[in-house]
Amino acid sequence: MTTTSAETAATTAILPSYIKGEWWRPETDAAVQEVRDASTGDVVARVSSEGIDLAGALEYARTVGHDSLAPLTFHQRAIILKKMALALTERKDELYEISARTGATKADSWVDIDGGIGVLFAYSSKGRREMPQSTVLLDGPLEPLSKDGSFLGRHIFTSLPGAALQINAFNFAVWGSLEKLAPAFLAGVPSIIKPATPTGYLAEHMVRILDESGLLPEGSVQLVSGSLPGVFDLLKLGDTVAFTGSAYTADKLRRHEAFQSGGVRFTCETDSINASVLGPDATPDTPEFTAFVKQLVTEMTSKAGQKCTAIRRAIVPSALAADVARAVADRIAERIVVGDPRDEGVTMGPLASMEQRDEVLSQVGKLVDAGGRVVVGTDQPQPSQGAFVSPMLLRFDDALTDALHEIEAFGPVASLLTYDSVDEAVDLVARGGGSLVTSVVSHDPEFVGALVPRIAGMNGRILLLDRDNLKTSTGHGSPLPMLMHGGPGRAGGGEELGGIIAVKHHMQRTAVQGTPELMTAVTGVWHSGASANADAEHPFRKSLAELRIGDQVRSGLREVSLDDIERFAHFTGDTFYAHMDEEAAAANPFFPGRVAHGYLLVSFAAGLFVEPAPGPVLANTGLENLKFMTPVSAGDSIRVELTAKEITPRETDDYGQVRWDARLINQNDEIVAQYDVLTMVAKTR
Ligand code: NDP
Repeated sequence: MTTTSAETAATTAILPSYIKGEWWRPETDAAVQEVRDASTGDVVARVSSEGIDLAGALEYARTVGHDSLAPLTFHQRAIILKKMALALTERKDELYEISARTGATKADSWVDIDGGIGVLFAYSSKGRREMPQSTVLLDGPLEPLSKDGSFLGRHIFTSLPGAALQINAFNFAVWGSLEKLAPAFLAGVPSIIKPATPTGYLAEHMVRILDESGLLPEGSVQLVSGSLPGVFDLLKLGDTVAFTGSAYTADKLRRHEAFQSGGVRFTCETDSINASVLGPDATPDTPEFTAFVKQLVTEMTSKAGQKCTAIRRAIVPSALAADVARAVADRIAERIVVGDPRDEGVTMGPLASMEQRDEVLSQVGKLVDAGGRVVVGTDQPQPSQGAFVSPMLLRFDDALTDALHEIEAFGPVASLLTYDSVDEAVDLVARGGGSLVTSVVSHDPEFVGALVPRIAGMNGRILLLDRDNLKTSTGHGSPLPMLMHGGPGRAGGGEELGGIIAVKHHMQRTAVQGTPELMTAVTGVWHSGASANADAEHPFRKSLAELRIGDQVRSGLREVSLDDIERFAHFTGDTFYAHMDEEAAAANPFFPGRVAHGYLLVSFAAGLFVEPAPGPVLANTGLENLKFMTPVSAGDSIRVELTAKEITPRETDDYGQVRWDARLINQNDEIVAQYDVLTMVAKTR
């Protein structure tokens, strides 16, 4: 077996940082912090950033990192993310082994390690499906600003020119780092990862694997093991900070003038007092009751409750409180074995450190002082070298006790409180002051429909759990890359994940105004009114390598006859009155009388622009944004202009997508219909 970097650090050297393209260690032992195995108390790492050149690291990101990452297209960055995911997958056993020292069971490590790798895969796929093969992301529709079409407005997103400083919590050393890295990387912004000291050795090994994979563009990823003295004084406009950790630290950090007046973006995700609400319909004989109890115990014990999304408040109907307490006690007794996660049969490990154990027990003490009775588990420390505590359910007779909505015991601890009406349930959820997630467990659409719109404003995410999705649900505690992760108020007010929106946090939105010609030059997407090239060769004869945006085919006019309309109607069965009945059609406010079917016109258009012989165009894969604008009557004529608008070669295939601007125009030069035709085209002939 190879010696891991963390083992090496424990015996000899200080845990290194990875800055300015090199692994770096302090030259002195001053300010070294010892980090211990959560179960055994053995030293596993020695951490210090004494003397680190943070100014140099930031500048390296802004220059070298930016120069290597920003010129890559979104698709090229996305492909690297996928390769990074594969490189980590190949060596994930090493990460699992190290992760056990943090107190994580295999299941906990799966959430952290495979969950983190999953975020890379998800952003890789989203980047290729939802972003262009370009460095500029268009946002929203074109805004015509002049009647003659010579002046347009459009929003674009481009990479921020700075560094993305990512400050992570101790509980998810891998997932936390990767869920911040992936959106920044896709945006083209270099990351500086700062893991929490107690579990930073796991993040260090993850970065080491990425470095050794040789995949990282120079300067795109750096790592600081240890603290960040004075770093905020070094930040500049264009830099970003994403923070996960305690609400207390977040509050302190966000007051720094870099964020207040320096224009540096600060987003955060902090601890929140999340809730799970049991519906009045969910009596003990229902699948919803069982699902509620099962989920509550999972959330209390997974990662020993050290999850920002964990359920802290179980809000149940008064009549069901005793049943819930009993069922939770039974399930914990049956399923939960606390111990060293490396031991067979253990289902809940220790907290991450003795400091965390003391902190959690102290917070539980405050909850007990405020009126909470420990009805499941014990609040007594377990005599051990490890940071073990038992899962605890506290029963509050007064659901309005402030402390239970405000104090977070960041461990396997939840409070049980009751409600008697929807209004009370709404009020109790809101008392958390803003949460990452609330679950509503009920099969009653009336209850769910009445509750959810009233609690949504206090939550970043809401999980609706009932008998029909309990097998497929991803669960209360699992943030998903494609859905909002973050929450209002106490949860930090951020939106770390949620699809491409997380990428945009690292980009600047800019309104660009100008002519179609210049707009085309800036965006790489052809805008109507820009010069077009209708040369002799039909664009369908051109491969992706030869085709240019603006390449165009213009047809001659084709007359549409009454016979065409009738044949199409009878052939397809679409004998809608607007096409068949002159009088009824004329009475309609939209038509002068009988008109041609829109789909007949779109079909005629294909006949007008197509180049039929086999060639580089492989398939017509879709049609988007279709608008019928002017009706066509029998005797009118139509022609088509088809222009290559956006060319998107696929990084991993021999073909790519071409988006064509299609316009149908009548004999009076009025636009009859407008749409995008999507085709797949071979890269070479
Ligand atoms: P902190 O908020 O103290 O630390 C979080 C991160 O911020 C760590 O990486 C820490 O580094 C860093 N940090 C702390 N102070 C500064 C500073 N002045 N400048 C720059 N970085 C700083 O949280 P803890 O990890 O100590 O946990 C304390 C409590 O926070 C927990 O008990 C729990 O209640 C809550 N928490 C919430 C989490 C969530 O996901 N929402 C996750 C983890 C904790 P370092 O470790 O080197 O000090």
